[in-house]
Amino acid sequence: MNTYEEQTDKDTAMEMVLQAPREIPVRGEYDVIVCGGGLGGTAAAVAAGRTGARTLLIERNSFLGGVATAGMCCSIFNCYYTSEGQLGTTGIAVEVADKLAESMGYGRKWHKHKGHIIYDIERGKQVLQDLVVDAGAELLLQACVAGAVVSDGALDGVVVETKSGPQAIRAKVVVDATGDSDVAARAGARVRVIEKGVHSLCFRLGNVDVDMFVDYFREHPEQFPEYMDVDWTLPEALAQYDECGTFLFPHGGGMQMDAFKQAKANGDLPSSIGIQDTTDACQMHALRQTGIVHVITGFTHFNGLDPELISRSITDGRHMAFTVADVYRKYLPGFADAFVAGTAANLGVRTSRCLDGDVVFTADMMQAGVRQPDAVGRAVGWDHLVKHPGPKAWGVQACREAPFDLPYGCLLPREVDGLLMGAGRSISTNNPSLLRVMVHTMVVGQGAGTAAAVAAKTGATPRQVDLGVVQNELRRQGVDLD
Ligand SMILES: Cc1cc2nc3c(=O)[nH]c(=O)nc-3n(C[C@H](O)[C@H](O)[C@H](O)COP(=O)(O)OP(=O)(O)OC[C@H]3O[C@@H](n4cnc5c(N)ncnc54)[C@H](O)[C@@H]3O)c2cc1C
Repeated sequence: MNTYEEQTDKDTAMEMVLQAPREIPVRGEYDVIVCGGGLGGTAAAVAAGRTGARTLLIERNSFLGGVATAGMCCSIFNCYYTSEGQLGTTGIAVEVADKLAESMGYGRKWHKHKGHIIYDIERGKQVLQDLVVDAGAELLLQACVAGAVVSDGALDGVVVETKSGPQAIRAKVVVDATGDSDVAARAGARVRVIEKGVHSLCFRLGNVDVDMFVDYFREHPEQFPEYMDVDWTLPEALAQYDECGTFLFPHGGGMQMDAFKQAKANGDLPSSIGIQDTTDACQMHALRQTGIVHVITGFTHFNGLDPELISRSITDGRHMAFTVADVYRKYLPGFADAFVAGTAANLGVRTSRCLDGDVVFTADMMQAGVRQPDAVGRAVGWDHLVKHPGPKAWGVQACREAPFDLPYGCLLPREVDGLLMGAGRSISTNNPSLLRVMVHTMVVGQGAGTAAAVAAKTGATPRQVDLGVVQNELRRQGVDLD
């Protein structure tokens, strides 16, 4: 078996001991390795596999999905359609939503509605792994990418920590879809750390009478926060529930509801629990079929790479879940017999570290009519507009009138070749929130995976790859770039 010497630039004595060069067995060699199996990484692996590259997807958890499963955020913000009602996002992002909806039994009906596409997390895990395997890619689960092997300015492979100890895996091209730019940072690419990201530990409640909960709003429409977080009205939310069995109570909406105001006034709902604040934001994703409601409430604010604060955010978040569940049982119709059916396996990190590359993606690039000659994706963007009339109004994510182009350049690190960014929040950008939502990260992943595969198959590096060939391959895979 070949071996690698893992590279290290640590400088304290103890670190030198811990990180001393080790003989690391080489586990295998691939055309493309995708690191991180969230929605971005899943799309990248599927695209690379379908392009005919020998592909490996490495994920630290025992299942795919990242924030969309391990983070218990099971609702895809519907930025598929423009405000003019045109389908502006195509490709794997649509396929994933269709398959998730199909697994829930409501098929393509979501296309008629504006609300998020809400799905069951366990089915989600299966849908995603099947997509990857069917595309011909291999999966390596419960393996954490812990190092990068760089030679002559190009990434040669990665080192993964497994139960058998560290293993090196070689690749012609690596896609970093860890969301936290772990590979880029370890490979020495220039990155930016977001010192105060906003994070949430999501949880879910079981045994909810979802019909009773939704009927409460039919009888008390003034309690539903229209035009908050989601650009829609109660009748639109109810129409989606009646047809798909999924109901979205918008983020920040809890602050508008009498039930939560009453709970706060009675001292049952503290404003903060440990470092978790805004405990009454209460976004809810309700599924009639399973009687489960997912809750996103409470925020923590810190550098999302800090291990101590991650731990604190999770432990405080777990306390918060049980306190909030008590409030729901006492104050919310339909929740009398609800219980905490789970807290998220991973903290939901919104932004942490992104690339600082040659091309910087900015909000201006999302304006109508701005085209990019090196586009490797096209999707509908959103504006943050305040439309709710209440005093605690939050902005709505309002879809724009035309799609934008994703420039290839913002996936490319300047210092290291052989590497592409494959997650929306970690591309080179001045605002990592611009493309962090699920649809956008899948568009980024598909662009990165396709380019990586074309580069590997044609013997080019990501910097030299023929973008005309990449764009044609994307078109062949159903992406409308035109
Ligand atoms: C609390 C919260 C609420 C949100 N709400 C919505 C919403 O309602 N609608 C919406 O569309 N979007 C929402 N988003 C945004 C969206 O969910 C996420 O940004 C998106 O799912 C991220 O996908 P990703 O693949 O880019 O990253 P991630 O989901 O973070 O995937 C990264 C993957 O890489 C793995 N990984 C990380 N490091 C390593 C490593 N070193 N080795 C191996 N594996 C590794 C992780 O386990 C994970 O599976 C929300 C985000 C958060 C945090």
